[in-house]
Amino acid sequence: ELKENTIIIVLGASGDLAKKKTYPALFGLYSQRLLPRDIKIVGYARTKMDPEEYHKRITSYIKNPDDKPEVKQKIEEFKAISTYVSGAYDTDEAFEGLNGHLDEIERKYQTKERNRIFYLALPPSVFIPVTEHLKRNCYVLRGGVNRIIIEKPFGKDLESCRQLIGAVKQNWTEDETFRIDHYLGKEMVKNMLVLRFANVSMGAAWDKNHISNVQITFKEPFGTEGRGGYFDEFGIIRDILQNHLLQVLSVLTMERPVSFSAEDIRDEKVKVLRAIPPVERSDTLLGQYVGADGKPGYLDDETVPRDSVCPTFAATTLWINNPRWEGVPFILKAGKALNEAKVEIRIQFKDVTSGIFKDISRNELVIRIQPSEAVYLKLNAKTPGLYTRAVPVDMDLTYKRRFGEVHIPEAYEALILDALKGDHSNFVRDDELDVAWKIFTPILHWIEGRSGPRPRPVEYPYGSRGPAELTSFVAKYGFRRSEESYAWPTTNIS
Ligand code: NAP
Ligand code: NAP
Repeated sequence: ELKENTIIIVLGASGDLAKKKTYPALFGLYSQRLLPRDIKIVGYARTKMDPEEYHKRITSYIKNPDDKPEVKQKIEEFKAISTYVSGAYDTDEAFEGLNGHLDEIERKYQTKERNRIFYLALPPSVFIPVTEHLKRNCYVLRGGVNRIIIEKPFGKDLESCRQLIGAVKQNWTEDETFRIDHYLGKEMVKNMLVLRFANVSMGAAWDKNHISNVQITFKEPFGTEGRGGYFDEFGIIRDILQNHLLQVLSVLTMERPVSFSAEDIRDEKVKVLRAIPPVERSDTLLGQYVGADGKPGYLDDETVPRDSVCPTFAATTLWINNPRWEGVPFILKAGKALNEAKVEIRIQFKDVTSGIFKDISRNELVIRIQPSEAVYLKLNAKTPGLYTRAVPVDMDLTYKRRFGEVHIPEAYEALILDALKGDHSNFVRDDELDVAWKIFTPILHWIEGRSGPRPRPVEYPYGSRGPAELTSFVAKYGFRRSEESYAWPTTNIS
């Protein structure tokens, strides 16, 4: 249930995340009438902006390709409910100013209830002072809820994560805190609960007896392109594997939760993550892209240190020590400047018992998270005709075709709505973060040279599938690419 008398306060409203994600998501919800009727949105940051400039900035990423008058109208309404306050992140005076502005809006409410949702679209360097000041200067003590929504990075390793979480907890309870991992807002990640637990046929094959290996893949077709300064400090493992892909892995492998309630789901996720030992160096492949076909290499980015050994590609294999998954390799791989844009889960089943068939393709279940959501199962069928010969085919659920042009919500829309409702299911709990960092901290410290010389990533050309070593890396864990040619008919929508 949504609460009336709610204000959403976006801190860091002048920034990149606010402009590209937060405000477009708020607009999406607003225009679908999914926000409380009297919602007000207040932006806050240091930059001085007049209302016109603020409105221009927050609507610059809202799409209206056909210039539809009804969308234009909605944008004007959205501007009218959005105001801006400028101020520092570290003084009582500034936050008292923000509080004064909020009080003024709330004075018009008919009832005593006042709800404030603080969305921190801010760099981590100011997280802690801002959460302190919000509690001290802007927290509603009676009659309503206060919530904070925060974004990664949640620290850089186990220790810094614990410090950050601990500092925020001084002022905000776990119940008031919503930690975003936007992959949990993606439609196909949410679909996993239904695919797995609403289908006996899927559930029955979901274990070490049937599955040979699993790959969870993130591929991006562009490099850092002049924004490498931030990236170089973090690297691909912190940027993608330790959070997004690990979240996908936990939903894919957890036991069935007792219910769909937030705590039941998160209990199961933590349980499976705790069964994963830290990643071994021998289970790791690191890469860095170099220039090719006129495209620049990572080290050509002027914001990147000349001699950086920061990985822009990583494949790591994780193992789950529980009865369901013992011995099954889970390969998490992610890279920049690759040959395509995709995020997918590829579950490869074991070979059929040999005897009647030879060299037959393995079954694969592919869940494509983006782009163009799809689930397809690669099977063998008899070639039509007089001979009994198997040919790889697929059972295909392409969302666009099955569900038409139904609107699939943006991850940020889904998550902001959940936070407004107070539903924590798709947010990351403190203990989940703790185990996630335990799995990756040793390998990250090794990459940073804390335990000896820094490992050198292998080079791969911009626009390739990744390091040449990738093929043997995945083969080592039992992945077999079908010899038989499998072709997806090009007449299909994809
Ligand atoms: P950003 O644009 O660099 O920063 C947001 C705002 O914070 C800036 O407009 C600036 O506002 C203020 N700020 C920047 N650097 C500061 C500093 N050193 N000290 C004090 N204030 C500073 O960051 P962002 O890309 O929006 O990201 C915000 C948070 O979301 C970060 O934690 C980021 O890791 C995370 N995130 C971002 C994305 C994305 O797509 N950009 C995606 C996922 C997560 P004023 O100068 O006006 O105060
Ligand atoms: P695929 O393109 O054959 O790739 C499958 C796997 O083989 C991936 O793990 C990929 O690794 C790896 N691979 C690709 N090229 C390789 C190479 N040269 N050497 C070694 N390994 C290689 O994918 P598919 O699932 O069989 O599907 C084929 C095509 O049909 C795809 O374009 C797919 O989108 C399309 N299709 C679409 C739908 C649909 O839209 N519903 C349904 C079925 C199929 P990396 O991921 O690491 O590159």
